[in-house]
Amino acid sequence: MSAKSSRMQKRWSNSLQSNYGLPTLSIVSGKGCVLTDVDGNKYLDFLGGIATSVLGQAHPAVISAVTKQIKTLAHVSNFYSHPGVLELSEKLQVLVGDKSARVFFCNSGAEANEAALKLSRKTGRVKVVATQGAFHGRTMGALSLTGQPTKQEAFKPLLENVIHVPYGDIQAMKEFINDEVAMVIVEPIMGEAGVVVPPDGYLKAIRKLCTSHGVLLAIDAVQTGMGRTGEWFGFESEGITPDVITLAKGLGGGLPIGAMIAVGRAGKLFAPGDHGSTFGGNPIACASALAVIEVLKKEKLLAKARVHEKSIKKLISHIDGVAEVRGRGLLIGIVLNSPIAVALKDEMQERGVLVNAATENVIRIAPPLIVSDKQIKKFAKIFSESIEEVSRG
Ligand SMILES: *Cc1c(COP(=O)(O)O)cnc(C)c1O
Repeated sequence: MSAKSSRMQKRWSNSLQSNYGLPTLSIVSGKGCVLTDVDGNKYLDFLGGIATSVLGQAHPAVISAVTKQIKTLAHVSNFYSHPGVLELSEKLQVLVGDKSARVFFCNSGAEANEAALKLSRKTGRVKVVATQGAFHGRTMGALSLTGQPTKQEAFKPLLENVIHVPYGDIQAMKEFINDEVAMVIVEPIMGEAGVVVPPDGYLKAIRKLCTSHGVLLAIDAVQTGMGRTGEWFGFESEGITPDVITLAKGLGGGLPIGAMIAVGRAGKLFAPGDHGSTFGGNPIACASALAVIEVLKKEKLLAKARVHEKSIKKLISHIDGVAEVRGRGLLIGIVLNSPIAVALKDEMQERGVLVNAATENVIRIAPPLIVSDKQIKKFAKIFSESIEEVSRG
């Protein structure tokens, strides 16, 4: 590690809390899918700030929208309306494809799921069914929904009345969904768990069960949303409409914004005073999100994500040491034959490509949706060279 890098590390550990691992890179700037570190080294960014920078860094449309907005109006609170919040909620309504959809804006994925949890209480029921391995956030309510005991252990007691059933198992859902359940919350693809894709028909079957028992179906599209899977939210291929959709990550194109969208009767459950967020629907965050939606549409990036999925699967699947390449669009998990994901991630970083070790044997990639064919080829080449190097030991 360079002198500059280790100095950054020292300042980090002397001024930030220890909840994160110590960063091994200090990034100072970025353009598109390329990040530059404190020593001037360049990295091909195949993680996108954890599935967040959908348009990469310094996208002209985002720069222009945000600059214009901050010159005009930066913040007003929800005592007042402003053009951006109206336009963005209307746009989201169109993307959901249901005029009864109503939006609540917040600042993160955890907050969006907290809002969904509170909304579910307004049904008069308290039970929630979630899935094992799921990630829904780290605040106490969202953490109660998260199905990962290692993240929960130190913070117990968490919320009662949350049941975690095996993901992808409709029989297990059947067993626990009944007239006492307020909400089922599920990711279309489990991102943090290592890009776990459920069997076809899973969400459709849950939708049916929820409908017949009057249970809210909440789809956590925080990671799969905003075009990443080649669909706007990641559940459309199942032909369902959820009661609740939560968004964050990609929504703001790098600015912090989250949303909890509720459809039909669910959209009318909150009454004045029930919930709120000072920053929620902030004009600058809304301006950025509007720019993101416009560019995604204009540049047909959803369709492109599906094309990229095919080429990545083709380039990676046959490589020695790869067991499976799974996922949809540009949310992809590369399952390895052995638990070398962390070493492989480190080796790729050394060679100038950033990815994530989601589990000990899964590499997750979630590059900006503006990624080019050339960059995908470069990623595949570095991946191949790195896995060979790491496997050699
Ligand atoms: C990242 C993530 C969250 C939490 O989002 P934060 O903005 O970190 O609070 C919730 N759900 C899913 C599916 C996520 O991937």
